[in-house]
Amino acid sequence: MGQSYDVIVVGAGPAGISVSIACANNGLKVLVIDKKTEEKIGDKVCGEAISKETTEIVAKELNIDTPKDNEINTQIENLVLRTSLPIDHIILPAIGYMINRHRYGQRLLKDAKRKGVNLLPETKVIKPIIEEKKVVGVLVKAESSKIEEYFASYVIDCSGLMAIIRTNLPDDFEPLLNNQLNKTDYAPCYREIIELEEKHDFNGKIVLQYEEDIPEPGYIWFFGDGEKKINCGTGFIKEGKNKDKSVKSVYFKAMEKYFPKGSYKVIDGRGDSVPIRPPLWNAVAPGLIVVGDAAFHADPLTAEGHGPAMLAGLHAGETATYAIRNNKHTLKDLWIYNKKVLKSFGAEHARSRILTLTLQKFGPKKLEFLLKRGVIKQADLTSAGILKKHSVFSYLERALRCFPRYYLLILMKKAIDASKNVARLCAVFPETPDNYIEWKIEVEKIYKKLSS
Ligand SMILES: Cc1cc2nc3c(=O)[nH]c(=O)nc-3n(C[C@H](O)[C@H](O)[C@H](O)COP(=O)(O)OP(=O)(O)OC[C@H]3O[C@@H](n4cnc5c(N)ncnc54)[C@H](O)[C@@H]3O)c2cc1C
Repeated sequence: MGQSYDVIVVGAGPAGISVSIACANNGLKVLVIDKKTEEKIGDKVCGEAISKETTEIVAKELNIDTPKDNEINTQIENLVLRTSLPIDHIILPAIGYMINRHRYGQRLLKDAKRKGVNLLPETKVIKPIIEEKKVVGVLVKAESSKIEEYFASYVIDCSGLMAIIRTNLPDDFEPLLNNQLNKTDYAPCYREIIELEEKHDFNGKIVLQYEEDIPEPGYIWFFGDGEKKINCGTGFIKEGKNKDKSVKSVYFKAMEKYFPKGSYKVIDGRGDSVPIRPPLWNAVAPGLIVVGDAAFHADPLTAEGHGPAMLAGLHAGETATYAIRNNKHTLKDLWIYNKKVLKSFGAEHARSRILTLTLQKFGPKKLEFLLKRGVIKQADLTSAGILKKHSVFSYLERALRCFPRYYLLILMKKAIDASKNVARLCAVFPETPDNYIEWKIEVEKIYKKLSS
């Protein structure tokens, strides 16, 4: 029998650190395990743009500092949508920071250790240990290649997209928890941090530049990262006609238009993948809570996942504490976590997925047409990527502008209805697991209809 804890957290990314601190603040004995060396924790391929509001909420709840000093590269004010036309079509408020993800991650780790969280670095978690239909611990491979067991009342899967615990659950473990990771659930990306010789015009902006040559969702991002630095990248789902396309080649081809090779210095260039689907509606099972990318908690349109991972980490910490203190461990007892995630960001992300699917359907050229003609306007979107409802008058006016491509307006109407219906269903998410299957069938019908 290995060592025993109240909570074992798999992964020391933003999700894992947030859960660990939340649990340690409540007096629980926590072990966080990461395969990286301690010095590498926090380093991840990322756009490095995070929301100020979310960061402040999390910092207050966890009683830690918001990003500060050299953890911040620059401030962000707007999210901008561009196409091949030389104008900013849509400018939405997006107050936040461009951070140095590694430095900020290292400081969060220090905060966790200061609060009493135990860290086991350079240790790869292999799979969950399951006894009597409950996750009771993890099997790990230490640096020495020795296989060891660790036990806990709760295992929290914060291992990122690959979700090492969730995806290694036997099929008959918990039918209400999806244990799959499909190719259509994520987009492989390539990202560079570049430095120019001259100042650029991306300062304070995170720009989504829609490009014809980039497979859906169809954009290359340019995030101003200081006067001369830009964080740029692209990504897409590798399926169908895009199955064999290289993300790196697509990225370099698109970059050539804006910053030809040799006109900039590459500070860092690497690939990784980001979730691009709605969140897991249920992310709990006996002895287990799934958080962050492991539960598809990133925004499907913008890939913003750092803040949501930390918010969900807070909810998971509260849920595990409640369960342990009150000896309440059934699925029904843990269900509150799903409700909290939906309320704090899940419902918004579910609607943001509708917008992503719609933009995929339009493609960059038709999107440009709609923006140029004013059929899609800035006021139609919220900064959370939510499509707003139109009045009848507004439909008529837009129909004139849409001439002769009326079918695009019909697609837009379908998207708005779908977005509204997803919001309606999220608001009535079942209070208990009892009615969950019926609810899930209803919500998934909406996505299926929009994709067909
Ligand atoms: C190209 C790209 C751009 C992005 N841009 C942004 C952005 O601008 N803003 C934003 O907010 N988000 C962005 N994201 C998303 C964001 O990075 C993630 O949503 C966020 O990191 C999720 O946090 P997490 O803790 O769930 O997972 P991760 O940060 O992936 O952390 C998982 C941790 O688990 C560890 N781990 C994995 N497997 C094991 C194992 N078997 N055993 C032990 N440890 C393990 C890993 O080493 C890692 O430390 C971007 C992502 C990508 C790929």
